[in-house]
Amino acid sequence: TADQAVRRDTGDAGLAARAAAVLPGGVNSNVRLAASRTFFERGSGPRLWDVDGNEYVDYLLGQGPAFLGHAHPQVNAAVTAAVSRGMVFGAQHALEVEAVEKLLAAIGWADMARLGVSGTEAVQAALRLARAATGRRRVIGFAGQYHGWLDTVLMAHGPDGPRPGSAGQPPEYLADWLITPFNDSVALERQFSAHPGEIAAVILEPMMCNSGAIAPQPGFLERLRELCTANGTVLIFDEVVTGFRLAFGGAAQRFGVTPDLAIYGKALAGGWPVAAIAGRRELLEQFGTGRVNHSGTFNASVMAAAAVSSTMDVLRQAPPYASVEEHGGALIDGLRELGHRHGVPLNVHGLPAAFHVSFRRDGAAETTVVDHATLQSLDLDRYARFSRTLARHGIWVAGRGIWYCSAAHGQAELADTLERFDRAIAADAADGA
Ligand code: PMP
Repeated sequence: TADQAVRRDTGDAGLAARAAAVLPGGVNSNVRLAASRTFFERGSGPRLWDVDGNEYVDYLLGQGPAFLGHAHPQVNAAVTAAVSRGMVFGAQHALEVEAVEKLLAAIGWADMARLGVSGTEAVQAALRLARAATGRRRVIGFAGQYHGWLDTVLMAHGPDGPRPGSAGQPPEYLADWLITPFNDSVALERQFSAHPGEIAAVILEPMMCNSGAIAPQPGFLERLRELCTANGTVLIFDEVVTGFRLAFGGAAQRFGVTPDLAIYGKALAGGWPVAAIAGRRELLEQFGTGRVNHSGTFNASVMAAAAVSSTMDVLRQAPPYASVEEHGGALIDGLRELGHRHGVPLNVHGLPAAFHVSFRRDGAAETTVVDHATLQSLDLDRYARFSRTLARHGIWVAGRGIWYCSAAHGQAELADTLERFDRAIAADAADGA
């Protein structure tokens, strides 16, 4: 169509073919398989440019990390200055202490933390701490969850419960999981009473951003907190997505419920690869005594410490939360209005910082997404196809429907996005006709 013709396409300058020859699937992370033909040349603030020179407003933010916008000057300057004096020492450096002090000050409720590299390994560390502290094995999780790609946590969620999410993953590695629907306090109570004295931990995204963008319903997290306390179970918030995004103190602050352990990543470090586990002293001290092992060559490298420290400074000095609420909120309203205007059954749910866009199935009423099952009632495949139309119109989003709004998104991005989304819906209708 004419709309597609305005975007340059030189076949990714041959990069896709070269990538496919040396990288399995042409990518370095399976999450990117659907985007294997897109090569970006640079990102700045809320926008990206591909190798053909096409510009995009970015709502994927690198799967979340670029919460301050791409290539934030203050964070990048702090990191490059710090690494010019060396990067890993096999002992401590002052910056890692400073970084963790600032991190704890931001979170507010936690006594101690450790820095690592990926959210996946921080999840592993949290589950190990919880099992060591309780002497129990079982873990309650929620349908639709994603806590990383390791054998013990990766799962596919079907109507009959979880199954391995990958070939090569021994099914018995998932044997300790009890999977229950999100936002269902009664089902949760049933799990606790069916397994008295057996549940080491409950782990969850306090807002499920890997299953749509499902906020907790009033009372759900509070009841969960009570049940964990009453049963001697460690409550773990996986704040890899929500941390420093829903509020400076993450989902715990936003929803007013305090876990025992929490995991952070993504927005923690301005786009640099850092994760953290934070929590109560009695739990974290198990690492300190050596009773529980947690290691990593690159943990709290100079790069990581500088990135966390300067990101905390930026978030404290210029809190972006009001701006994200305003621009993300206006975007949600604008997208809904475009759906109505075009007579397209668009379904948008979530919060301004992280929301989910999809289509309702033909004839279905407006859907309140409360858990994995209601999410599956939407036409997710139609949105996945539409996400490629959006890319051709200069809006970069994930096929799975999540949209992240960054601190760098402003009035210009809002206007460009609504105008492009409008044309994308029209082009989609024309293609389908
Ligand atoms: N937990 C959650 C909630 C996540 O969204 C992710 C990554 N998308 C992870 C854990 C794993 O983090 P990483 O990709 O850094 O290993």
